[in-house]
Amino acid sequence: MGAILTDRVAVITGGSRGIGRATALAAARRGFRVVVGYATNKAAADDVVAQIGASNGKAIAVKCDVARESDILALFEAADKFGTLGALVNNAGIVGKTSRLDEMSAERIAQMMAVNVTGSLLCAREAVKRMSTRHGGNGGVIVNLSSVAAKLGAANTYIDYAASKGAIDSFTLGLGYEVAAEGIRVAAIRPGLIDTEIHASGGEPDRAHRLAGNVPMKRVGTAEEIANAIVWLMSDDASYVTSAILDVSGGR
Ligand code: NAP
Repeated sequence: MGAILTDRVAVITGGSRGIGRATALAAARRGFRVVVGYATNKAAADDVVAQIGASNGKAIAVKCDVARESDILALFEAADKFGTLGALVNNAGIVGKTSRLDEMSAERIAQMMAVNVTGSLLCAREAVKRMSTRHGGNGGVIVNLSSVAAKLGAANTYIDYAASKGAIDSFTLGLGYEVAAEGIRVAAIRPGLIDTEIHASGGEPDRAHRLAGNVPMKRVGTAEEIANAIVWLMSDDASYVTSAILDVSGGR
C-alpha cells in the first residue's frame, strides 16, 4: 500500500455499520486518522472508534445525517480539528422498501435523492474546498459508493435507488475531470450483493443470500471485500486512477 496519504484524515460517512465500518477499520490499519460519520447509531460508531483505538489507531465519531447540510458542515469542521483531510468516502446510503415506481411517494423519492445524491455532492464539495490545490490544499481522494443497481435498474425493487446510484456514477466521472489537475482523484465502487444490514431496511434481510445463486461467483460479498477495494483506491497504489468506476460484484 502506498504511504503518501497516511496520517491524514479520512472522513467516512455512514462509518458505523456495514461497508463503512469495514472501510473505517481498514483505513485506520493503513494509517489514516478516521472520522466515523453516523446518522443515529452512536453505539455502533463508538464501537468502531474503540476498535481502532485498541489497535493504536486514531478515530473520532461524529453524528452526521448527510441529508442535512448543517450536519455536513459540522462533520468537516470536526475533521479540520482532527487533522489535514486526505480522503472522503461517500458511503452513507439508503434503500427504500421493495416496490414499483407507481407505488412510491414523492417524499420517499426526495429522501432517497437527499441522502444518496445531494448528501454525497455536498460532502464532496466540502472535501474539494479542503483538498484542492486551487484552494491551497495538498490533494486527496474521494471514493463514492455506487451500486451495480445503477446498471441493472432494480425493476420491481427500487428504481429510485438505482437512479440515485446512476447519479453517483455521473458525478464521479464529472468531478474527477473537474479536479484532476488539482491533486484530487475521484473514483467509485459499484458493489454487488453484499452481506450487510441494508437489505433488512429494504424489508428483506435475506435478500442478498436469496439472490446469491444469480451471481456468477455464486456467493454474496463481504463488507471487507468492498473495503479492500476502497482503501486501494485511497492509496497511492491507485495514483493514476481517476474518474473511474470499479465493479466489485463477483461478476454480477
Ligand atoms: P448499511 O449496512 O445499511 O449501513 C448504512 C450506514 O449508513 C450506517 O452507518 C448508517 O448510519 C449510515 N446512514 C444511513 N442513513 C444515513 C444518513 N441519512 N446520513 C448519514 N449516514 C447514514 O449499508 P451498507 O450495505 O454498508 O451500504 C453502504 C453503501 O454501499 C451505501 O451507499 C449502499 O448504497 C452501497 N451499496 C451496498 C450494497 C449492499 O449489498 N450492501 C450494494 C451496493 C451498494 P447508522 O448506523 O447511524 O444508522
